[in-house]
Amino acid sequence: MSNNAKISKDFNKLDNILIIGNGGRENSLAWAIQKNELVKNVYLCPGNAGSHRINKCERINIEISNKTELVEKLNYLKIDLIVIGPEIPLANGLADFLREKNFKVFGPGKNGAKLEYSKSWAKEFMQDANIPTANFWKVNSLEEAKKIIYSSSNPLVVKADGLASGKGVFIPESKDECLISAESIFNGKFGNSGNVVVLEEKIQGPEVSIFALCDGKKYVLLPSAQDHKRLKEKDKGPNTGGMGAYSPAPLITKDYLNRIIKEIIEPTINALNKKNIDYKGVIYFGLMITKSGPKVIEYNCRFGDPECQTIMPLMDQNFVFLLEKCSMGNLTGNETIDSSNMFSGCVIATSKGYPNEYKTGFPIKIGKIDSNNCQIFDSGTSLGKNGELLTAGGRVLSIVCQDKDFDLVFEKIYKNLKEINFDGIYFRNDIGHQVRKSFSKEN
Ligand code: AMP
Repeated sequence: MSNNAKISKDFNKLDNILIIGNGGRENSLAWAIQKNELVKNVYLCPGNAGSHRINKCERINIEISNKTELVEKLNYLKIDLIVIGPEIPLANGLADFLREKNFKVFGPGKNGAKLEYSKSWAKEFMQDANIPTANFWKVNSLEEAKKIIYSSSNPLVVKADGLASGKGVFIPESKDECLISAESIFNGKFGNSGNVVVLEEKIQGPEVSIFALCDGKKYVLLPSAQDHKRLKEKDKGPNTGGMGAYSPAPLITKDYLNRIIKEIIEPTINALNKKNIDYKGVIYFGLMITKSGPKVIEYNCRFGDPECQTIMPLMDQNFVFLLEKCSMGNLTGNETIDSSNMFSGCVIATSKGYPNEYKTGFPIKIGKIDSNNCQIFDSGTSLGKNGELLTAGGRVLSIVCQDKDFDLVFEKIYKNLKEINFDGIYFRNDIGHQVRKSFSKEN
């Protein structure tokens, strides 16, 4: 797909796009979508202080729970396509509601979002469809959990069933610790998300994220990615929402990808169809590459953050067409993505204390940035009284660059990071260590 004018005949109007969400993920989606010359306005609801810096982008503040106001505003803005970023509105059925009102929506309905908002449902779904995943037990009480924990040969992974902002997974070292984790979940650490607990066999191997844009029946894959969830260097410390990522993942060769498609991606889409789930959105496959092959660790019903910020700069101007085709159910499945053979990386600058308590409101100073194939996507920022950029979240900025190898990518990212400062700034220096040749020499 290279000729926009020719392609435009095949597409409905794409003047006005709305993206729901307020993080780095949504800003990077907006950045990739605005590249297309047919797109006139990209509205971010609510977006953050970085949204204005993106070409064609404007923030709007609509209370999405106020359905009447929402529909009025979308009609007033003549919105042609809605992209829903975060999992919570998807789990609450926002996509279903907007489709009923005849809007084109990229994002699954509530039944598809269940892949993410109920881990036990997703595990049973995989079991029924013979999709490789770690063995598991769904438990409804601490007594049940105790029996399974102490009868298993090794400590199990303990997960809250529902949404928990990436914090609902425990990987204890001992069985006693497993029980303590299960107890904390049943005692309400994650509210109703912890009414059910999933216990899982601990599996091992590198992790990789695969994204399939899906129109209900057909799909297109985005470049693979690997992220770093742990707070500290050498992949130590607590799990976070993500401290950085790189794409594509060299681990996933063409042959291995074919295996993943055959064993995981196509069986997942077929199983959704069998359940009459018309999944129009992205399916995130969080995989572990074990000795016995790829296994699904989790599904998400939305783009991962920071993988999305990493992958979006690899998209060409046709990305928005893919989203629209998914929303309409008319992918051919043969669409290709021209990622210009570039490599991309992202490092997240966080507030001191994250992922636990942290302070916000510190001024962000940005010096002389190399902007050649480099982006800064705001993750958690706000504007002060005088228009100054302030920290407003645990993850503050996503520093992203592309180049023809990963060494050059991360050299540029860390050079740009030297130009960025705020009180308590923290980031990992070893993001992408697996793919940086210069890193292994230096360390
Ligand atoms: P999740 O939120 O389910 O992706 O889990 C968060 C992280 O916990 C994953 O990225 C893995 O590093 C780890 N994890 C989850 N499930 C397992 C498992 N069954 N075995 C080993 N590690 C796991």
